[in-house]
Amino acid sequence: MNIGFFGGTFDPIHRGHLAVAAAATRRFRLQKILFVVNDVSPHKQAEPITPYVHRYAMLALALAKEPRYLPSTLESPGIAVHYSIDTVRRAKTALKKSDRLFFIIGMDAFREISSWRQPEQLLRECEFIVASRPGHSLAEVAESLPEKLRPPDKIIAPFRRSKGAGTFTHKGVTIHLLPEVNDSVSATDIRAAAHDRRRIDGRVPATVASYIRKMHLYEEE
Ligand code: ATP
Repeated sequence: MNIGFFGGTFDPIHRGHLAVAAAATRRFRLQKILFVVNDVSPHKQAEPITPYVHRYAMLALALAKEPRYLPSTLESPGIAVHYSIDTVRRAKTALKKSDRLFFIIGMDAFREISSWRQPEQLLRECEFIVASRPGHSLAEVAESLPEKLRPPDKIIAPFRRSKGAGTFTHKGVTIHLLPEVNDSVSATDIRAAAHDRRRIDGRVPATVASYIRKMHLYEEE
């Protein structure tokens, strides 16, 4: 079975996340995607993040009608800080030998991958699907890798000419590019709109929009 692992702050989950999931499901015949709400440690926050329970509730509402999309509590808050490398390894313990795990990530987040904990091990732990995001070029995938894993130009050059589609494997790392997502929606913009009491409909599922309104999320400074 092909299984996706899609981590995020999801504050809130929005149309862009669902577009990434749908495109990845189609292209890689994913039978299941785990949506993992990150437990972001307070010292890492530039601005306060909505409590985990609200972010998880919105995720569950957004995914309710799609049987293949599973809200995951793999990173529910605890004593220890969660790192993707540990969460992915934990997710893998529940898989069969024949399962393939794909780590789904947008290009903006992938640019930071080298600064994550044990990036080389994480990149070798499962296959990666890197989705396009307006303002972030998929051509930068190779240079975003930790130096030791960067492929030589002859491997990566064809991807620069092919509108970003394709797969490359180098030193035990497999990266699939997913160029068809082209939606500039962001959680930051949705939070700002909700804060100013502007419309957020269409950018988040209707159930999420009404949850945000009735719980008065994002209204405080
Ligand atoms: P924020 O605006 O708060 O930074 P965000 O919109 O980037 O949030 P996250 O929950 O941080 O949302 O993103 C989770 C994952 O989804 C990341 O890998 C991110 O790159 C990806 N992602 C989010 N929005 C898009 C989008 N519009 N297109 C492609 N990928 C996206």
